[in-house]
Amino acid sequence: MAGPPLSLADFDEMPVGRLKGIGPKREAGFAALGITTLYDVLTTYPRRYIDRTNEATIAELMPGDEGMVVVEIVNVTSRKTRNRKTMVLVDVRDQTGRLRITFFNQAWRTRKLHAGMHAIIFGRCEEYRGSRQMTNPVVDLIGDQTGRIVPVYPSSEKAGIGTAELTLAASETLRRSAQRGLADPVPDAFIKRHDLIDRTTALHRIHAPESMGQVDHARRRLIYDELFRIQVALVRRKRELEASQIGVGHDPDGVLVDQFLANLAFELTGAQRRTIDELFGDLVDPAPMHRLLQGDVGAGKTVVAVAGLLAAVQGGHQGALMAPTEVLAEQHFAAVREMVTGLEVADPGTLTGTRPLGISLLTNRTTAAERRALEEGLATGRVDLLIGTHALIQESVSFPSLGLVVIDEQHRFGVEQRAALRDKGADGAVPDVLVMTATPIPRTAAMTVYGDLDVSVLDEMPPGRTPIRTSWVRLPVEDEHGQIDMTGVDPNAESAMWEHVRAQVSEGRQVYVVTPLVEESAKLEVSSAEETFVRLQSEELAGLQLGLLHGRVSSAEKEETMSQFRAGRLQVLVATTVIEVGVDVPNATVMVILDADRFGIAQLHQLRGRVGRGSHESYCYLVAAAANPIAESRVEALVGSTDGFELAEIDLDLRGEGTIMGERQKGRSDLKLASLRRDRYWVEKAREDAFALLDADPDLSGHPALLAEVDRLLADDETDFLLKS
Ligand code: ADP
Ligand code: MG
Repeated sequence: MAGPPLSLADFDEMPVGRLKGIGPKREAGFAALGITTLYDVLTTYPRRYIDRTNEATIAELMPGDEGMVVVEIVNVTSRKTRNRKTMVLVDVRDQTGRLRITFFNQAWRTRKLHAGMHAIIFGRCEEYRGSRQMTNPVVDLIGDQTGRIVPVYPSSEKAGIGTAELTLAASETLRRSAQRGLADPVPDAFIKRHDLIDRTTALHRIHAPESMGQVDHARRRLIYDELFRIQVALVRRKRELEASQIGVGHDPDGVLVDQFLANLAFELTGAQRRTIDELFGDLVDPAPMHRLLQGDVGAGKTVVAVAGLLAAVQGGHQGALMAPTEVLAEQHFAAVREMVTGLEVADPGTLTGTRPLGISLLTNRTTAAERRALEEGLATGRVDLLIGTHALIQESVSFPSLGLVVIDEQHRFGVEQRAALRDKGADGAVPDVLVMTATPIPRTAAMTVYGDLDVSVLDEMPPGRTPIRTSWVRLPVEDEHGQIDMTGVDPNAESAMWEHVRAQVSEGRQVYVVTPLVEESAKLEVSSAEETFVRLQSEELAGLQLGLLHGRVSSAEKEETMSQFRAGRLQVLVATTVIEVGVDVPNATVMVILDADRFGIAQLHQLRGRVGRGSHESYCYLVAAAANPIAESRVEALVGSTDGFELAEIDLDLRGEGTIMGERQKGRSDLKLASLRRDRYWVEKAREDAFALLDADPDLSGHPALLAEVDRLLADDETDFLLKS
């Protein structure tokens, strides 16, 4: 008896061992490739296709031509050459003739290639002593496939799974499901609107296409499916959060906010004004806010955050701002306190009916006595704004009426820490949450990575900033034989850089030197920082006042060094990436990054953002050898652009989405066909569609198959939602 059509969720419940011809051994092989269910089989897509319509016969191949031939292997032998290299000789044939294939240094070929196998060979035909041959061609084993387009799957020699096994598994899965048919849970209207083919056809065509055109159509449909499922999950989560929680309705129109904005020493940028409007729009609404503010380093996120915090205070609530490090928390505290000096809040308990706005700092350095006073101030409502580190989320800290939580550099906090702060809301009301990041990611990537949040973008820099001049100080590359390659290297560039550093210092400016990143070991990183410090102090920068900061410096010492640097008593700060976030010393004008090729684009951009914060012209030196093309492209990107969003696009191009998605969505739900970069258009369409669908059918009760797929295929792995309860 045939059941209802099969959804992908159904396939995910069927172990791969259910297929004919797959016993425990082969099942283990599949498992090694991450394939355990028939859903995995269907969504393990070919890496590429061989178009056999371009195929030649052996007789047609002319010496000098590049070509593809489909052959049978006749004989495989191997021997050593005079200089002790392995040479594998393979004789192949088709109906028209024979060809000799030679592999150098590929001894493993003898294990893979055997007489009687069918293979597709692609390479250049040569003539050698009167017979035709190919040297080191590309070989694909195809089993006895007859289609004109031959899919090539990811393979694992170790697991014994390759194209032949995967082709068979996919066709067997599709054949066996033919009776019940495949469910197509994506609403018809969307399929029609986007002119997509149905899912059954798409799956058949991706695994067994008759033309490359068919592959394109299939990919389009399956890419849409992937993106649509993710968006449905995200939008549904977003809507659920909004519906299930009682938030605080604020009134952003009031004297406190007005005075704050009027007192600012500068004009807001257009982007700040727009972002504050977006923020206020959410704050008025009693549904809890979950908004992400993306803005490049120096774009002025703090003002936006403070405007929001004051809107909360104005209505009698409290506001909290959490930063990832003590240095940053202290800096925020100093900056915000200055911005709000002179502001008064209503307090009927006083003679005048007002009192100064109460603002406090809480970090691990806060003493027990200060802490008691602070906790009392919070309890009586005299502390309106609390700024601090993760100390804010300790048990003993309680707010009578927390209205808005701002989390700076959100990626530095774990989900639990963010949730803990939000849970500090009293009387069952959930405070609004604004998370901020200075690591912008492209819009469509944000729609996916932060798709359960509303996103505001601060994409305009305050005026009057002189752009940072970035240059690449190129070091020679040394190859494995100790050969030095001086291509593009100016031997004087490095000493010229240190001279420029000294010149800037003698003009009263300050300098950061970032020491090499040692990812494998924090200990090595510290010693590399110490070595650099000692060397610079005795050589390149002898006579200057240098300070040293790294991860093993105690926090008291760290603060001492920072305050000396801030006060200008230190001229050069040698540091590891501990200075990456938030350090703000406007007098610092030079950033030297050693071994810059080891850092990622986002990190280099963050580090560079430590200079160019004042009115003086600033410089960034990236000291790096062109060790590999990707590292080179990263350094070149930094030289070519100071726009964080543009750099984020380049980064996405260079790294692919794996890493971005990895921040939030791990495991199977990773995009298999879709690319957040290439498929931007489909990300947007999928999101629009998800909103339309969930607005019409909020609990998806009218779309049970879709619901099952979203729950089954995404729920397990996607627990790391930013504001997960
Ligand atoms: P970030 O987005 O990196 O957190 P900040 O909020 O720290 O940036 O702002 C960087 C600097 O720019 C601060 O000194 C701030 O006072 C200043 N600033 C912010 N907005 C403006 C503006 N509209 N015009 C001029 N300066 C501004
Ligand atoms: Mg900031």
